[in-house]
Amino acid sequence: MRALYLASCLAFPTLAMAASPTTVPFFPDSQYHNDVVSIEQRLGHALGERISAPAEILSYFETLASSYPERIKLVKYGESWQGRPLFYAVIGSADNLAKLDRLESDMRRLADPRNLNKASADALINSLPASVWLAGGVHGNEISPPEALMGLAYHLLADQSAQTKAILANTLVYIEPMQNPDGRNRFVSRYYATVGIAHSADRFSAEQNEPWPNGRTNHYLFDMNRDWISLTQPEIKNQVRVLQQMFPLIFVDSHEMGGDQSFYFSPEAEPYNPLVTGAQRESLDWLGQNNAKWFDQLGYDYFTREIFDAMYPGYGASWPLYYGGIATTYEMGSARGHNYRRTDGSILTYADGVQRNFIAYMSTLETASKRAKDLLQRFYSYRQTSLTQGEKDGIRSYIFPATRDAAGHQKLMGVLTQHGITVNQATADFRACGNSYQQGAYVVNTAQPTYQLIRNLLDDDVKMAEAFIARQQDRRSKNLPDEIYDVTAWSLPLMYNLEVNRCNRAVDVASITVGPDTKLAGKVTDADARYGYIVPWGDMAAARLLSHALQQGLTVKSSDLPFTHSNGVRYPAGSLILSHADNPQLATKIQQLAQSSGAHVTGINSSWIKDGPNFGSGNVQNIPNARVALLWDEPANPLSAGSARFILEQGIDYPVTAIRPAQLLRAELRHYDVLIMPASQGNYKQALGAQAQQKIHDFVSRGGVLVALGNATDWLIQGEKPLLNSKREFKVSEQKKPEAEAQVAGMLLESRELYQQRLEAFQAQPDSVSGFLARAEVDQDHWLTAGVPANVNSIFVGNFIYQPLTLAHGRNVLTFASPEKLVAGGFVWEENRQQIAHKPLLMVQAQGRGQVIAFTQEPNFRAYVDGMHLLYINAVFRGAAHATPLR
Ligand SMILES: [Zn+2]
Repeated sequence: MRALYLASCLAFPTLAMAASPTTVPFFPDSQYHNDVVSIEQRLGHALGERISAPAEILSYFETLASSYPERIKLVKYGESWQGRPLFYAVIGSADNLAKLDRLESDMRRLADPRNLNKASADALINSLPASVWLAGGVHGNEISPPEALMGLAYHLLADQSAQTKAILANTLVYIEPMQNPDGRNRFVSRYYATVGIAHSADRFSAEQNEPWPNGRTNHYLFDMNRDWISLTQPEIKNQVRVLQQMFPLIFVDSHEMGGDQSFYFSPEAEPYNPLVTGAQRESLDWLGQNNAKWFDQLGYDYFTREIFDAMYPGYGASWPLYYGGIATTYEMGSARGHNYRRTDGSILTYADGVQRNFIAYMSTLETASKRAKDLLQRFYSYRQTSLTQGEKDGIRSYIFPATRDAAGHQKLMGVLTQHGITVNQATADFRACGNSYQQGAYVVNTAQPTYQLIRNLLDDDVKMAEAFIARQQDRRSKNLPDEIYDVTAWSLPLMYNLEVNRCNRAVDVASITVGPDTKLAGKVTDADARYGYIVPWGDMAAARLLSHALQQGLTVKSSDLPFTHSNGVRYPAGSLILSHADNPQLATKIQQLAQSSGAHVTGINSSWIKDGPNFGSGNVQNIPNARVALLWDEPANPLSAGSARFILEQGIDYPVTAIRPAQLLRAELRHYDVLIMPASQGNYKQALGAQAQQKIHDFVSRGGVLVALGNATDWLIQGEKPLLNSKREFKVSEQKKPEAEAQVAGMLLESRELYQQRLEAFQAQPDSVSGFLARAEVDQDHWLTAGVPANVNSIFVGNFIYQPLTLAHGRNVLTFASPEKLVAGGFVWEENRQQIAHKPLLMVQAQGRGQVIAFTQEPNFRAYVDGMHLLYINAVFRGAAHATPLR
């Protein structure tokens, strides 16, 4: 039985302000064929009537794909952390779907102008359909786009109108309903668990308010709409891989925003990334103008330009711009449930969101279908121009000498390759631009179709327009928030802390092309050595080996100081020492450890040291198999808690126990060596209460290690006997304490500057910084910085600036550089630049038998400032080695 779809839809309460249709999807002049399985027939609820769970959405697409294989194809391309399939469906005319493989391979040919003459390119442009990729739900609690994409699939298969036929003849429609199925599942199960017999529209009701962590993020609590630069999460990494199989000409990342807002589509807000081309911006206008036409016709409100910018290249709506597509965000006001009462009293329903998204998608398909040849031509021109731009560019090649941190280099080159960038590794020594390089150095030539992406990822800085910055200065003087939407620096070499040289000539050297693997192949040199093995410290492969060895119960020593072994090699501080005497069957185990970790291990026949401590010295520690607990729930910032767990669990395979702050009083902290306190989005003092706070103090004095991330540092400095003797600073200011009297002595304001200064509050907070890359200087003599080079780059976000510890209290092992050297990349207000200089980034203070370690900025930010990760690992493992509990 296949009932006519429209007859089965329920009527929905609608927005007073708009003449909404009473059924969704509603598209003017549709003629639905009653043969196609409706959502209600498959799922038992009509479109927009319930928030479908991930498994339901998948099952609907599976039903369509098995029922109409000639018109829709389902492709599963990966799995989320929790094992849910990542999939997309492609819908087209039967003609186009029959030759889908060839069409996709033709798009890949068109994408590489190096192997294409003009006649062949023209032939491809004339024969290929347009292609559109519609993605929803990267934020799992932005609920209507995945539903609307189900409705779109139904509509495209069921509608017999000439309009839909034309779209499908000219366009391949890729539908990816859920980029983040784990986040959506968290939202949907929690939502229906809080609903009573009637749905509440009250924004303060339990159903309208998500508990920690909300559904926005994935399993490791990452905002995946920031992950398109370093591809740390399987959901995004796999998506970047599949997008390069067909290079869709238009990519729509479909989101939701606050329920009081209407609908947002392109053009985007300033600042635009300067590496987006004029032609792309014009195409974005085409999309916006056509959407506006439909929204006008149906009476739907919308806005453009005001909020969502196109500067940061790590959004879903940005990355496809840099392979030459058109990428944009759509944002619908969210009902965040079935009903939402807006401030004007009207009720926004879930179905309202579904319907508006659906119209925006149909409008986008119409634009693509009508502009198919233009879009194909523009894509090809983009790729071709990129090639010649690279050839003409002042920078012809980026050269990585790769003399240290082999694991970091391997990871970065693997990531660049995953982005579609060709990376070569020299197989011989060479000279370029006056420098000598050894074999093993990496070279990225700029004359590639991905030229703009190369510049975006490898330049220190991508500048915002001067006029935009001037406007922000002006806004700041009026105490208006700035319009910088995200971080202003994202240079991968800076974030990985790897040296890169820029050369104005293309490098000509024998080389191999690097593959997408991000992990080194491990190896053991002198495997049958008599004494044991050394693993040089300084990269994440060695950290992974430490993790694996400790979990196998091996005894691992680590030197606090660098040393020169009698084999002539100088080893950095932190280097690991494993001896046969301590570890039975080590020769077999070490092979397996090198392989599983990617570390390079060297066998040694004796323990004789020429310079530095011997292995029995007090400067060589046993690293304990640290038991690590992590605070996990309010008031922790979920992004900080998530990345703190991710780097230990997925970066080095080390287990972590997540403990809710509310359970701390009952928890047995003696079972742990290290307690990690993520950055806070609330107030630890309030959340923990006096007793739990005392318990953490006791944990430290008995020999525990407390690691505070970002603004969790604030909790450490509170109270009469703080765990950390630092203070947080107000803004540097001349402003005097206000006088108590109502009338005061007169004063002259002799200039506009003086007037401006008078407006400032007494004891004002420093201005907030949206995020730049800050250079820090490393005290290399401390055990906490073992294996870390003399300078590292950290993200700096916000306005928390701390005073250095005095020598009587502890050490400031990382301090921000002088004002002249501070900014490695990105934008910072001048006053902040002056005030941040020489302030601590990493402090350590011994307390009782334990250690207190504070990162004043988030070291695990988006898990992509890789140069900071070893410091975090050191804090956990070397911190535990330097605490002295009575074991
Ligand atoms: Zn979103």
